[in-house]
Amino acid sequence: MRIDPMGQGMGARRRGFGLGSIRWIVMIGFAIYAAVSWMGSAKKDPYTGETAHYGASTDEEVQLGAQAFDQVIGDAQAQNALMPADAQVSQQIRGIAQRLIQRVPDVTQALAAEHGAPAPEDYRNFQWDVAVIQSDDANAFCLPGGKMAVYTGLLPVAQNQDAMAIVMGHEIAHALLRHGSQRMAQQKLVQMGQMAAGVALGGMDPNQQRAVMGALGAGAQYGFILPYGRNHESQADEVGLMLAAAACFNPHEAVPLWQRMSQIGGGQRPPEFASTHPDPENRMARLQQLMPRAEAFYQKYCGTAPRQ
Ligand SMILES: [Zn+2]
Repeated sequence: MRIDPMGQGMGARRRGFGLGSIRWIVMIGFAIYAAVSWMGSAKKDPYTGETAHYGASTDEEVQLGAQAFDQVIGDAQAQNALMPADAQVSQQIRGIAQRLIQRVPDVTQALAAEHGAPAPEDYRNFQWDVAVIQSDDANAFCLPGGKMAVYTGLLPVAQNQDAMAIVMGHEIAHALLRHGSQRMAQQKLVQMGQMAAGVALGGMDPNQQRAVMGALGAGAQYGFILPYGRNHESQADEVGLMLAAAACFNPHEAVPLWQRMSQIGGGQRPPEFASTHPDPENRMARLQQLMPRAEAFYQKYCGTAPRQ
């Protein structure tokens, strides 16, 4: 949306308004527009039953995610840090990803049914992929549209494939729940506010572009990671744990994993999934509460109870 304040001002002046009142009319107009478009974009998220606002269509998300992924891969190649696809670690990570992805339709359907919503089909347009990147960071991400990266610094923290699956399930959940799109909706609201204040007019400047990349969860190569809100983190914990359990990874590994995560310090950057949780004990308690449900998912799809 482009606004030409000069044009509006001149046109209005011809009709005899003062410049001060024009500013107020424009500001109020923006505020009403922002409020109406925010409320109009409200939908029930079928995975959690909570109200959500989406700032981009699934097609836009897939496209933006693919572009961001190309940049991440290009940067990793330039630094000679991209693990070859036939390396043992790449094959292991790919195997975990495939098991998780296979269960996406079942878990999507089960969670939507729990919330009395039709099962979303957005994931069918995803272009799933996973890359392993050499780095000291204990991190991983799944971009909107399903392209993932795992940094090798995560391996000694995860320690086993069940815990790795819980991290990757968490990241996949961010993509399934379209948290990138939801952050873009929030940012649009912020931008509306900025426009109303006359701060940002016209197209996207480099800072706004950075902000959009950050919203997508691909901020790492820009030197910053925009953390998800705590509510989005809780949602990703929940949906990710059910996905991992349904793919026959032991959900009981979740609590010791987050304990190891919360102890990461020193020179390592805090991982995406630890950065917005100043209260790890609260998170442990929530994960414990989710355990019976996760066990039920495991039992249903794996035909046995997970080992304690
Ligand atoms: Zn997260």
